[in-house]
Amino acid sequence: MNNNKTLNEIKSNRPEGRFIECDVALNTHIADKYKRVSKPNIPNISESAVLRHYTNLSRKNYALSTTMYPLGSCTMKHNPLVNEKIAKFEGFSSIHPYQSEETIQGSLEVMYELQKGLCEISGMDFFTLQPAAGAHGEYTGLLIISKYFKNKNEKRTKIIVPDSAHGTNPASAALAGFEIISVKSDEYGIVSPENLKKVLNSSVSAMMMTVPNTLGVFEKNIEEISKIMHDNGSLMYYDGANLNAVMGIIRPADIGFDVMHINLHKTFSTPHGGGGPGSGPVGVKEFLKDFLPSPVVVKDGETFKLHFNDKEKSIGRMKAFYGNFPVILKACAYIKALGGEGLNDASEQAVVNANYILSKLKDKVKIPAGNYCMHEFAMSLKGALGDGIRTLDVAKRLLDNGYYAPTIYFPLIVEEAMMIEPTETESKQTLDEFVETLINIMEESKANPEAVHNAPVNTSVKRLNEVEAARHPVLHW
Ligand SMILES: *Cc1c(COP(=O)(O)O)cnc(C)c1O
Repeated sequence: MNNNKTLNEIKSNRPEGRFIECDVALNTHIADKYKRVSKPNIPNISESAVLRHYTNLSRKNYALSTTMYPLGSCTMKHNPLVNEKIAKFEGFSSIHPYQSEETIQGSLEVMYELQKGLCEISGMDFFTLQPAAGAHGEYTGLLIISKYFKNKNEKRTKIIVPDSAHGTNPASAALAGFEIISVKSDEYGIVSPENLKKVLNSSVSAMMMTVPNTLGVFEKNIEEISKIMHDNGSLMYYDGANLNAVMGIIRPADIGFDVMHINLHKTFSTPHGGGGPGSGPVGVKEFLKDFLPSPVVVKDGETFKLHFNDKEKSIGRMKAFYGNFPVILKACAYIKALGGEGLNDASEQAVVNANYILSKLKDKVKIPAGNYCMHEFAMSLKGALGDGIRTLDVAKRLLDNGYYAPTIYFPLIVEEAMMIEPTETESKQTLDEFVETLINIMEESKANPEAVHNAPVNTSVKRLNEVEAARHPVLHW
């Protein structure tokens, strides 16, 4: 697969003298006034001191490689290290985005194979790999929807978003020029056809849905909802952030979705703590393919090529060059390694793990979704804690116990919410230990509320003022 030519290989085939060696260029072309006059003030310390400094720094943080990371909504799953190694292969890491197509056939093949794999997993007909994150994918998908209606000369200015949606959904819709209509979830935390019909009219271009939704509940009315929307001439957008729950079980295209994004950094093996890098490929059904951003990778005989859509129809480019290529590469390697059956297993195991935790907590807390969930669930800690103790305090106390704190206060429709997503890769023993710790903290909050309220005390940074950074940002010093 990896038949890229590296820059060095290309250089070595060119006539001599075309490349000026760097150090010669530095010596002769930098004016004296820019050159250093005294030696740089570099600390003179031993290798072991440097090693200890950085190792100790790295230990002050939480990471998937040190602890369970039950962060609901973010799918912090295990990212096989072998994929990092593959991303570093010289044939991939030493190429340049300006190289010609003939010299990057291996990389184009990776992109082509990933487009194909994502089509198979989702049921969509075409994918673009350009968007750099989930939210960027939403924005791309909404621009496609906007252009589609413009092309049909239909004036549709609104997007429907359930009240359980991730905040990026309405934000992306607003950025793409739409007005947002919120639809209320019913008592089971899902969208009901009745509530949808109340807000639907001919100015609605599409509805954005996450399935399973952010409460970890499968939208069981989804086929009826898709039909109602399509009968209204509107489209269906699938927020694929929760795809980890349904791979090989359902395909978004089969339950009525027309456009979707996938968060490669959530479902397909890219570490994304600390904010990046990500990748949010967007898939569409056949009738929308001309609106995709250019270029996409196509196969012509045995050759991989870039295909540019008609400029009038395509929404244009969403990202420089090819998107976040190393993330694309890792996703491709992960999908190929697991195969269809492996991906199906991953989803089933993710659902089993979440239900295992839910079943052990359901008598102690309120779980709006009921007795079963998909790959994650939201619970309300209201009424389950000692006087004056809030979900935030419990999350901080988990840090003291060596866990990364789960997502809290999301989804917004659950009071004092805590959201748990163990992912498929955690063992029964890890899940048991986590549940035991959580229950202990809930009991501690009644017996010794002070201790929970003052947490964390075992971390290198103690309890922070939650609003200080927003009110008085210190942007440089
Ligand atoms: C994470 C997430 C997003 C946004 O994805 P980013 O890659 O963080 O931009 C959108 N919707 C849901 C449900 C998510 O969990």
